[in-house]
Amino acid sequence: LAGTGDMERTFIAVKPDGVQRGLCGEIIKRLEQRGFHLVAAKFLQASEDHMKQHYLDLKDMPFYGGLCKYMSSGPVFAMVWEGQNIVKLVRMMLGETNPADSKPGSIRGDLCINIGRNIIHGSDTLENAKKEVGLWFKPEEFVNYTSCFQPYLYE
Ligand code: UDP
Ligand code: MG
Repeated sequence: LAGTGDMERTFIAVKPDGVQRGLCGEIIKRLEQRGFHLVAAKFLQASEDHMKQHYLDLKDMPFYGGLCKYMSSGPVFAMVWEGQNIVKLVRMMLGETNPADSKPGSIRGDLCINIGRNIIHGSDTLENAKKEVGLWFKPEEFVNYTSCFQPYLYE
């Protein structure tokens, strides 16, 4: 986008618990209202192997097996969103990994209780965002369009 140096993309997924609880709309609403721009989305049930790849950095953690099983147990809503400094801003919107440590006003602080059912994933660094976007989406799955909000969101 014009005039915006640090435009970034991040990978966000509503996890199976968030989908089952009917929270896709609430999560999308928050991202839209912040001013972020949706560039790709799909609703799918991921395989356990795909989730093992996605969470590869956590392979030595005791919860890795259960996490990957859970993440592949039902549908997820996978998305790529774009915006200035979006990786960091979305992590702030999510709250902490443990909903019990997440402030009210954050997605996890408002909408969930338990660390193993924290409803949403968001990339933690720009480097991981690039990896995750590439793992979940093919180039032809991105839609290029101009948001009419652009001049009102960015100086
Ligand atoms: N997780 C868990 N138990 C833990 C830590 C993490 O079940 O003690 C799950 C939780 O769903 C979390 C995911 O593993 O969202 C990935 O962990 P990470 O540390 O990357 O947290 P996130 O980036 O999602 O905040
Ligand atoms: Mg993480």
